[in-house]
Amino acid sequence: MKYIGAHVHITGGVENAPEEARALKAGAFALFTKNQRQWVAAPLTVESIDRFRQRCDEYGYAARHILPHDSYLINLGNPDREGLEKSRTAFLDEMKRCEQLGLSLLNFHPGSSLKKISDEACLSLIAESVNLALAQTRGVCAVLENTAGQGSNLGYTFEQLAYIIDKVEDKSRVGVCIDTCHTFAAGYDIKSESGFTETFEHFDEVVGFKYLKGMHLNDSKKELGSHVDRHENIGKGELGMDVFRRIMQDSRFDNIPLVLETPDETLWAEEISLLYGFAERY
Ligand SMILES: [Zn+2]
Ligand SMILES: [Zn+2]
Repeated sequence: MKYIGAHVHITGGVENAPEEARALKAGAFALFTKNQRQWVAAPLTVESIDRFRQRCDEYGYAARHILPHDSYLINLGNPDREGLEKSRTAFLDEMKRCEQLGLSLLNFHPGSSLKKISDEACLSLIAESVNLALAQTRGVCAVLENTAGQGSNLGYTFEQLAYIIDKVEDKSRVGVCIDTCHTFAAGYDIKSESGFTETFEHFDEVVGFKYLKGMHLNDSKKELGSHVDRHENIGKGELGMDVFRRIMQDSRFDNIPLVLETPDETLWAEEISLLYGFAERY
């Protein structure tokens, strides 16, 4: 079964996220558990936590279909010691917020070398950061998102994701989120049928579908291999509609949150319903 949703807002509190998801007729959703542009946030209130959990229960959102995303400021591969410590502290706080909310996943962009250290050194730092956070929390899986490879951001090849996973001690608490826009921008031609088949066969060989915990469904404003991360609404960009139809009709993408991060939010309800329509017809 497919679980499709969008990255909803937390204006007025995290407890409003399930409300918005329900209004969109979504079966899954993503959210930030704090302001994503600030390092520090006030702790979640007991009231907020209770309402969030209550609403998820009531509307039927299971933890495995909710994909929280961490702050954009965090760089778990930061070569600068001070920056790394700051990131690790913030990431641990994000993991703990997920724990409090009863969530089981935390999606994050692996990290950036800032061109000061080798890719391998940066990937190893990221794995070490994940190990540290997992040792201090329970029940939350660290979900690495593949990137477009913009600037010095790593995680744009499946090999890089596998390199990190290999160094994570608790394999049961590490996973991957594939973003369709990032995949295409990174140079994987998922637009054509043969390219789609090859890319996901390659993914299965290098990483393995058992690690796939979620997906971001975004079209791309930029062309194949551009390494530029610019999302577009479904079917309106360089990717086109076929790839989304294929994902909806492929059981390898069952039972995980499939989340829109498309720029025109007024289209979310329509996009969700369209995608569910594709899923029904197979
Ligand atoms: Zn994404
Ligand atoms: Zn993106």
